[in-house]
Amino acid sequence: MENKNKSEKNCPCGRIITDPKNKTGLCPKCQKTGVNIVSALGVAGIVFLVKKNGGKIIKSTFDVVKNIKKF
Ligand SMILES: [Zn+2]
Repeated sequence: MENKNKSEKNCPCGRIITDPKNKTGLCPKCQKTGVNIVSALGVAGIVFLVKKNGGKIIKSTFDVVKNIKKF
């Protein structure tokens, strides 16, 4: 059974997105990769701030978390 849907979406990686409820425009694999990249960047940012601000570790971390939530 072939269902040609005009709203069929393609992920940037070339996969066809079969989930009609998909709002991100990414296939599940790329979604997972994207989340990992965002998480990695967040962790890297916190590590960078911790290294830079030795004594202000806790305050800096809270500021980063606040900024992430705002974003
Ligand atoms: Zn993909």
